[in-house]
Amino acid sequence: MLLEIFIIQKGSSFLLLHRSFTTKTIAMNGVLFSGMISAISLFTKELKIGQITHFETGDHRVLISSNQDIIVVGIVEESKEDNFVEISLKKISEQFYEQFGQNIKNWNGDTQIFEPFAKNVDEIVYSEFTQLYISKDFPKHVIKVIRQFQDRFEPNVMKLIGFKAGQVRARNIKTKKQLKKKLRKELDLISINHVNEFTEENLEIEINLCPVCRGIKNDNFSCKFIEGFIEGFLQHELLADMTIKAKETSCIAHGDKACIFSVEMI
Ligand SMILES: [Zn+2]
Repeated sequence: MLLEIFIIQKGSSFLLLHRSFTTKTIAMNGVLFSGMISAISLFTKELKIGQITHFETGDHRVLISSNQDIIVVGIVEESKEDNFVEISLKKISEQFYEQFGQNIKNWNGDTQIFEPFAKNVDEIVYSEFTQLYISKDFPKHVIKVIRQFQDRFEPNVMKLIGFKAGQVRARNIKTKKQLKKKLRKELDLISINHVNEFTEENLEIEINLCPVCRGIKNDNFSCKFIEGFIEGFLQHELLADMTIKAKETSCIAHGDKACIFSVEMI
């Protein structure tokens, strides 16, 4: 489980950007943490024992990727995820450097300029996460993975992961007609479902044995992964001029008979 990402300026040890991916927050002083990471990185370099790439505490694993001016750090709870986090950190480091390499050299201390990059961090992390956990072995691991992660990730993160998964699954579709047909097939693989097509632009998808909320009774819960999956699947280049919105209107977790998703293609 990837919990946090920090982008730190080397040398000054300033924290440029911090991104948290979990509802569980680690009570941590970001400034102190940045200082510690910079110091470790500096010491290992001074001592000529090579770059530090990771270390472990009792509860967490800390993965580090750095280039000449920045250090990107990921805090992970379970080490089996190292692979996806390592790739993400490297990509974040490269993209951040490409965008801000010049700014960092003459930086005036204003972290606001880095804030929009949070979106890039999310994009990279969700793509890598989806690649590793969801798209490779669909749908075998999907249910297991979403159930394992959904109470730790923020709902909007779950939706974005669903979106990515939908995009990946729809990648090779060639016609508009195929798009809706294939979506039904994909949902069939996940669960028993029924699609009501009211108009070309308006449909409703009813999932009767929703695996996402199975066993959950919670008024605040919603099957965000599926919402995202539908949107990502239909937000295809074949429908590039349309905006797709999927919203769960009934949920088994709320005591409803089925999970129903209303889909608008505007
Ligand atoms: Zn639901």
